[in-house]
Amino acid sequence: MQQGETFKLSRVILTSLLAALIVIPLVLAYKYKEILAVVLSDKTETEQLIAEAVSPVADRKVYISCEPISQSGNSDTTLTRGETPFIGRWATPVILLTEETCLSIDTFSNLTSKTDATTEQLQALITISHEAFHTTGVIQEDVAECYAVQRISDISRKLGATIEEAEQVQDRAVSLQRRTASDEYITSECRDNGPYDLDPARAGSFPY
Ligand SMILES: [Zn+2]
Repeated sequence: MQQGETFKLSRVILTSLLAALIVIPLVLAYKYKEILAVVLSDKTETEQLIAEAVSPVADRKVYISCEPISQSGNSDTTLTRGETPFIGRWATPVILLTEETCLSIDTFSNLTSKTDATTEQLQALITISHEAFHTTGVIQEDVAECYAVQRISDISRKLGATIEEAEQVQDRAVSLQRRTASDEYITSECRDNGPYDLDPARAGSFPY
């Protein structure tokens, strides 16, 4: 190959690469613009509160939307409690919550005594903890749920509970989960020292 041709070919490859570098992110940003909008939008106080409570559990910065949207950009009426959108196998840092879930967390944070938590508030705590684990890339429902029940007390603490209150809230949330969760959310592997025990070194730390 002549030197001139090699130069021309290199220029074509370089131009194509540059074009791909610009075009691919633009296409992705457009395709997932609703998810991007949640990341970039101003957050309400409740959305900020929930994000701050669950980000340490997820070990990443999480973005909350209390106005659930579907991937088509319309309001998502099929959402029950909460959802974490995935792009392929990649978990986004976005959690879409129903207004009811957000309201329950908001009212929980305002309780003078957190031990007065209602069933709805306990369920909302389980939901935000569960979704937080989806944002870490956990896909299976029973695994996300198993991790979730172990972090209710941490999340309660972030929402203003004392250590004693947080432990009681966790106990009540766990017993609620055991009574009401459907089979898809339960695994026999969810046990002290089991594969999903987040603190295996701490004997008896498991909430069951
Ligand atoms: Zn889930």
